[in-house]
Parts: sequence; C-alpha cells; structure tokens
Amino acid sequence: MNGTQSDDRPVALVTGGARGIGRAISERLAGDGFHVVILDRDETATETAAKELNGKGLSAQAECIDLTDHNSVRLLVTRLPSLSAVVNNAGIFDERSFFDLTSEDFRRAYEINLVAMFALSQAAAERMLPGSKIVNIASRAFLGARNHAHYVASKAAVVGFTRAMAMELAGHGILVNAVAPGLIDTPLLAALTPERMAAQLAIQPTGKAGRPEDIANAVAFLASPGTDFITGQVLLVDGGKSLGGGMGL
Ligand code: NDP
Repeated sequence: MNGTQSDDRPVALVTGGARGIGRAISERLAGDGFHVVILDRDETATETAAKELNGKGLSAQAECIDLTDHNSVRLLVTRLPSLSAVVNNAGIFDERSFFDLTSEDFRRAYEINLVAMFALSQAAAERMLPGSKIVNIASRAFLGARNHAHYVASKAAVVGFTRAMAMELAGHGILVNAVAPGLIDTPLLAALTPERMAAQLAIQPTGKAGRPEDIANAVAFLASPGTDFITGQVLLVDGGKSLGGGMGL
C-alpha cells in the first residue's frame, strides 16, 4: 500500500513515529495488522519511515505535522478513518539543573510532552469507537530524577492525565493507559553527556539500556484486542530501575 489506507485494517496513529521508540512502535503495530499513520515533524524522516514499512509489505502513511499546531492535528484526525489506536509517543528531553531552568524550558516541555498529547487525544477520542485504545508514553522519570525537573514534571503530568482520561473515556469504551520507559537507546539520549550516561547505566539493574522494541512490545500489548479490562494503568518498562526507590541520578 502506498501511503493511504485502502482496506479494512484498523488504523493506528503514532506520534514521533519516524525515529527512536516511535519508529519501533510503528513497525510493531503495522506488523500486528494495523495501517499505521506515522506523524512526525521532519518531512524526509517521516516519509522515509513510511516508505520503509511499505517496502516490507506493511501498511503505513506519512503525515508531517508539528504537534504544537493543534489545528493541523485536528484536520488530520478528521480526514482519517476512525482511529482504533493512538500512541502519544512524541516528546522532548533535555538536561538542565534546577537553578539553570527557565520558565520557557518548563513551557516548552509541557507544550510538547503534555498539551500536544491532550489536543490530539481529544480530537481522536471524539471519533473513536468502543474498544479503541490510547497509549501515552510517559517515562520512568515521573518517579523523580535529577537535572530535568521540567521533564520529570511533564511526565508526571502525563501519568495524571492518563488516569483522568481513562476515567472520562471509559464510558465511551475507550481504554487509556501509559507506558513508562526507563533508559532506552535512541537519539533522544544524545542530550546526556557520556559521564551522565555512564552514571545512568551504573544504577541500571540490567546494566544496559533497553531497546525501542522493548517499549513497542508493551505498547502492542496495550493496543491489542483482549485488553479491554485494563485502563488507567502505567506499565513501567525500565529493566528494573524503578525498583531501587525510583530516584534516578
Ligand atoms: P526521539 O527524540 O528519538 O524521537 C522523538 C520523535 O518525536 C522525533 O522524531 C521528534 O522529532 C518527534 N517530535 C518531537 N516533538 C515533536 C512535535 N512537536 N511534533 C511532531 N513530532 C515531534 O525520542 P525517543 O524515541 O527516545 O522517545 C520517545 C518517547 O519516549 C518520548 O516521549 C520520550 O520522552 C519517552 N522516553 C524516552 C526514553 C529514552 O530513554 N529514550 C526514556 C523515557 C521516556 P524531532 O527529531 O524533530 O525532534
């Protein structure tokens, strides 16, 4: 299939689907039989990701949109068939010690990690059918971590938002859960200095970072049929890092 949905596959939308964890989620859901709408903001990367999946005999289309442009997000959702799954994966991460943080850092983290998630989820949920799934990508950092209070706060807000949305949408038959990844090997980790990366690995019980596929597997479970009695939950996929009391470095 070349770029648009033309059969009766259920449709899943994955934000930030062109690279990292989102790319793995897109491929996994496409492999599970979804037509996947890959939403990301870099045109070449987004189109390349969709082309690669279609080249593997899977079904995907590229949509290049900045999630902070809520009008474009809403327009996209109205021109798609009803979504069976939405994976709110796009997010930004950077490191800044508490005294270096600015209000603008906080606003930017919230705008992308939370408000964009709300805008897309609201537009999608208005048209989703009973049995549809929303999976939000939070972070193990919601438990607490040093040097990125803005990110930690935005991801804790994602957890609260997931639980609130699950309560309100349960009556519509829409199930909402979150996956909270630990350290996962993706381009996002370029924000960590080598020293910080080494320190993170030192407190990782498994001794290594996870793979994007580890998160994709958890998302695929929560997006699959047969999980209709699970809602408002946060699934930590962190190689056990949260077992040590949750205080990341
Ligand atoms: P990446 O930075 O590798 O990928 C994120 C993707 O989202 C990028 O393609 C990025 O585009 C896109 N994106 C960001 N902002 C927007 C926007 N406004 N509109 C459209 N697309 C956007 O991150 P990961 O794959 O590592 O992370 C995915 C999610 O997992 C994030 O929510 C992150 O917080 C979470 N997470 C990741 C962890 C990790 O260790 N990697 C740990 C815990 C949570 P662009 O390249 O242009 O920025």
